[in-house]
Amino acid sequence: MFENLSDRLSGVFDKLTKQGALSEDDVKTALREVRVALLEADVSLPVARDFVKAVTEKATGQAVTKSVTPGQQVVKIVHDELVHVLQGDETDIGTLKVDNPPAPILMVGLQGGGKTTTTAKLAKRLKEKHGKRVLMASLDVYRPAAMDQLKVLGEQIGVDTLPIVPGQSPADIAKRAKQQASMAGYDVYMLDTAGRLSIDDTLMAEVEEVKAITSPRETLLVVDGLTGQDAVHTAENFDGRIGISGVVLTRMDGDGRGGAALSMRAVTGKPIKFVGLGEKMDALEEFHPDRVAGRILGMGDIVALVEKAQDTIEAEQAEKMARRFAKGRFNMNDMKMQLEQMQKMGGMESIMGMMPGMKKAAAQIKQSGFDDSVFKRQIALINSMTKKERANPQILQASRKKRIAKGAGLEVSELNQLIKMHRQMSDAMKKMSKMKGGMFKQALKG
Ligand code: GDP
Repeated sequence: MFENLSDRLSGVFDKLTKQGALSEDDVKTALREVRVALLEADVSLPVARDFVKAVTEKATGQAVTKSVTPGQQVVKIVHDELVHVLQGDETDIGTLKVDNPPAPILMVGLQGGGKTTTTAKLAKRLKEKHGKRVLMASLDVYRPAAMDQLKVLGEQIGVDTLPIVPGQSPADIAKRAKQQASMAGYDVYMLDTAGRLSIDDTLMAEVEEVKAITSPRETLLVVDGLTGQDAVHTAENFDGRIGISGVVLTRMDGDGRGGAALSMRAVTGKPIKFVGLGEKMDALEEFHPDRVAGRILGMGDIVALVEKAQDTIEAEQAEKMARRFAKGRFNMNDMKMQLEQMQKMGGMESIMGMMPGMKKAAAQIKQSGFDDSVFKRQIALINSMTKKERANPQILQASRKKRIAKGAGLEVSELNQLIKMHRQMSDAMKKMSKMKGGMFKQALKG
């Protein structure tokens, strides 16, 4: 997938990465080409425009990382922005809400988009990966063949389908599925609605009625990823009328233009949860924004290189800090760096959870009301200090404290806690640095 877009962008960045230093004009020219490449990939105009704007802003303000060329760095920025556009703030990509059995999942979309196939693929996944008992029901009363298709797929993957009763309306079938699912103890029931060749009122009214009867936990729109902006329009339409919780993009195994994936999240605000990668029952993947961004760019190696260079900078910073600690120095700037590092590593609980024997202690800390938002508040307090105060926390007297707390929108008591914690850490550093061949010195040698 994405071959065309990827080729184009590779061409743009090949030129950039060969140059040592990058002028603002170079960046501008390259990004103009990026915009054209995105448009050719059927990414919608506002999305392409916003994308280029965001990248320009980030590329202009950023400090140049040692050991990579500016061009390579721009590639990394473009990559990260692609991931951002593809993902948004979503954390539930690749997951489905299926607690409180029986959980209804409503599958909607146009005819031929891959709805029935995807219903079965998801049922198989829920059964095999999550151990769920799943019931599938076809609501396509217009095409008996579609009902049979679901039944055949069900037999193939070992998932039950609701028996077909001729003459029932979609609403009747939905009610029967709901009843059957709770009576027979299914965890999930999936409703495969009828598709149409294009969106029409009858279809929408029908889906609305089914939705009202079942209150689905997920309403997934299945769309053909090869149809580019049409897929995005379809999603807008369905979302506007019935509300969808996520999108499954099918046929992402084909060599389409790929613009649909980029525009989808940005235009509809709905996450792409899964992608279909073929006709077989296990050809379904969670949507991985970073993989897709990598494939769009076709420059995974450069992204990895820049990431490594940034790691090196962090290592350099850590070494510098260790040298300071070895001399018994530990001011608020160091403290801030420590707090940020802890935040980055996934917070207190996660860090302690990784250490053997610390799980219990982590639970106790949590019980005592400590949570990771404390880091954020402490960092805000440090940010509110002047340069001088950060370097010499001992000058923090009452009036300064009041100003700092106010600046961070917090209480002085919280600042006092921070100061106490800083003093304790600083004392510990001093003690350790006094130990012969202390921990830091040894670390620096090693
Ligand atoms: P529906 O009308 O929306 O229910 O569509 P179907 O589920 O019947 O799918 C239509 C055709 O697309 C079938 O031949 C499927 O095998 C095929 N199909 C579905 N998903 C994918 C996919 O992710 N990749 C490919 N290559 N084909 C798919």
